[in-house]
Amino acid sequence: MIDLRTGVVLFCALTGLFFLFIWLWYDRRDHATFDAECRRTTFHCIRCDHLYSDRQGAQVSVCPRCGHETARLKF
Ligand SMILES: [Zn+2]
Repeated sequence: MIDLRTGVVLFCALTGLFFLFIWLWYDRRDHATFDAECRRTTFHCIRCDHLYSDRQGAQVSVCPRCGHETARLKF
């Protein structure tokens, strides 16, 4: 039989672990979303002056507006 003190300690520990796992899960999910959004390459179409982005590491991309093949912007 578990006495009251042990039960309270177990309840607090399990509640703390629950919130720790929730925090870690949301943190990992947000990092994955942020990396996917931010790690993109920017392109500027010289034909139609459209600014857009494509997957990370792409050196050349086709403009979604006019279809012109454009090299990535370099800063
Ligand atoms: Zn274009």
